[in-house]
Amino acid sequence: AALRDGYEHFDPRAYLRNNYLPPRADFSSEEFVVPWKLRCLAETFASGEIRGRTLIDVGSGPTIYQLLSACDHFEEIVATDYLAVNREELGRWARGEPGAFDWSPFIQHVCKIEGRGEPWQDKERRLRERLRRILPIDVHRPEPLGAPLRPPADALLSAFCLEAVSPDRASFVRALTHVGNLLRPGGHALLLGALGESFYLAGAARLPVVPLEESDVREALAAAGFALRELRSYAMPPALRTGVDDVDGVFFAHAQK
Ligand code: SAH
Repeated sequence: AALRDGYEHFDPRAYLRNNYLPPRADFSSEEFVVPWKLRCLAETFASGEIRGRTLIDVGSGPTIYQLLSACDHFEEIVATDYLAVNREELGRWARGEPGAFDWSPFIQHVCKIEGRGEPWQDKERRLRERLRRILPIDVHRPEPLGAPLRPPADALLSAFCLEAVSPDRASFVRALTHVGNLLRPGGHALLLGALGESFYLAGAARLPVVPLEESDVREALAAAGFALRELRSYAMPPALRTGVDDVDGVFFAHAQK
């Protein structure tokens, strides 16, 4: 209940400013956190092993950076979020409306690290075409979308959501199990998330987060029925400890159901 109340005050614009503008979104060096996240995804999708009809992104929030490498490998991308304000923010970007957040530096950077010489506008167009559904979701329900996804997703992505909506580790494992129900057996799951974080700010909202260690991520994936393929982590440099949260680092996990 406390979490739900917190999210009523979540300000998408403040969240974007805190995490997706400089200093965190600085593309001049790979040492910054946003380029690190984009590289994890770009390298993982570059293998060509993760592909199919549908990829679902759980707790998309107001962001699309997490879909930039993914969108080349799926016919449809389904974005989801609990909050209408975030789904509206995403819709504004998907429709190319004025006032949408400017993701172009992210798109340009991903095209650069993917190294195929693709014009960034082509990637932007492809993601907009493939992002056909932006659905409400609640990961605390065994059926997070309210009904099964048919056919189930071929891949699942979730960034900075599950630990940010779970009061404790047991709840984190349950949420992971619930979202796993959206994925077909054998499907790939990619998780990005916070390590050692107890709160983050988004305007007037101060959201509690369950602090995780790498071992918690490993154990949660195993308990939720996933086989771990890769786990990487990033230590938040002092210059990026800006007071918008108390995050120690970031993990990236690639697992298979
Ligand atoms: N994926 C984005 C946003 C993460 S912020 C990024 O990488 O930055 C956490 C998100 O979880 C918010 O968008 C919030 O609206 C969403 N959320 C809150 N409660 C939720 C719930 N019960 N189920 C699913 N998502 C929830």
